[in-house]
Amino acid sequence: MLIHRAVYEEEHSLFRDAVRGFIKAEVLPHFTAWEEAGMVERRFWQRAGEAGILCPQIADSHGGAGGNFKHNAVVIEEFAYAGLAGPLSDLTVHSDVGASYIEDLGNEEQKQHWLPRLASGETVCAVAMTEPGTGSDLQAVRTRATPTEAGFRISGNKTFVSNGQHCDLVIVVARTSDAPGAKSISLILVEAERAGFNRGRKLDKLGQLSADTSELFLEDIEVPRGNLLGREGAGFASLMQQLPQERLAIALTSMAAAQRAFDITVDYVRNRKAFGQAIGDFQNTRYKLADLKTELSVGWAFVDQCLDKHVRRQLDSTQASIAKLWCSEMQGRLVDQCLQFFGGYGFMREYEICRLYADARVQRIYGGTSEIMRELISRSLAA
Ligand SMILES: Cc1cc2nc3c(=O)[nH]c(=O)nc-3n(C[C@H](O)[C@H](O)[C@H](O)COP(=O)(O)OP(=O)(O)OC[C@H]3O[C@@H](n4cnc5c(N)ncnc54)[C@H](O)[C@@H]3O)c2cc1C
Repeated sequence: MLIHRAVYEEEHSLFRDAVRGFIKAEVLPHFTAWEEAGMVERRFWQRAGEAGILCPQIADSHGGAGGNFKHNAVVIEEFAYAGLAGPLSDLTVHSDVGASYIEDLGNEEQKQHWLPRLASGETVCAVAMTEPGTGSDLQAVRTRATPTEAGFRISGNKTFVSNGQHCDLVIVVARTSDAPGAKSISLILVEAERAGFNRGRKLDKLGQLSADTSELFLEDIEVPRGNLLGREGAGFASLMQQLPQERLAIALTSMAAAQRAFDITVDYVRNRKAFGQAIGDFQNTRYKLADLKTELSVGWAFVDQCLDKHVRRQLDSTQASIAKLWCSEMQGRLVDQCLQFFGGYGFMREYEICRLYADARVQRIYGGTSEIMRELISRSLAA
């Protein structure tokens, strides 16, 4: 199980109990139905808002709980450890990414308008960077936000958008001028009720089946100038500033989900017998599990250090990339080895390890692939 760690204080432990209670009462009873439907029900968002688990880092003056990112980390760990990767991926984009963009980059009017709605679950937020033609290379986005007298006219196609079906508000990455590369990229708030906003397919995925990852089609959407988030042309720099938090969230998810896979595997090998003994007694099993336990211990120590630094605003892009790269790669190795200990049962969807294996795969892809993490880390070598 998730053990108490020194990075957390008493208030986080109390919050953890509340999150566990919410998962037990409001998520687990519906989870299978949500996986079958390919998305959570809307009431998940309302209940999560009522329970205070959406955007817990948002200041109370903006309708939040006035916590810090350690509260977000508690939500992440509890959902990941409960094997709820789909709802967690929805929550991460809403709370840890979208709400933080508005809190850090928004003007007072935008914060007063949107943050209370995000914290209550009245508004579900999405972030649309990726396009069919570009993902890793964000500077190549083609979505246009052409300046008009009143604001911007937005056209383009986005894909792989988490919360794509539920979202009411999308932070769209678009080009606001013809300047090359990063200099023309801006972030724009787009309300889903605007004319020209069209939801495409809910995409059929390998894992995270209850997350409504979707295409979005933006056709000549008119938004007022007040919807610009941050400075015009500074969108790329803003993304670079915000991405470490998203990467830390993914690293924490990897750690807690890997811990879950490890714990259920230890239970399984104690009970499963072969050749007259528990498979957990074979030296091969014991040594491999000892290696995995070692990786988990080292990983928790590093991710806790990063979490502590992040709350003190000292986590830099290199460290966040290291955390995302190592924790997600470790999770991939660990779930593969754990599934092996389940033999053929590990390949059956009715076994939790099968879902943990499928859900883990995307951790090395979204939020910046492992290759992009290596690229970013390698840039720090030049200094
Ligand atoms: C379930 C899911 C949810 C997602 N949610 C969102 C979301 O909410 N919002 C959003 O905007 N996006 C989202 N994404 C998109 C995700 O961030 C991208 O898939 C990811 O950034 C990779 O982009 P790509 O898929 O276009 O791959 P590509 O960029 O085409 O990369 C393909 C391969 O080439 C490699 N590669 C690319 N560039 C380099 C390089 N310079 N050096 C070495 N190798 C390289 C990559 O590492 C990868 O292995 C989501 C994706 C998934 C699968």
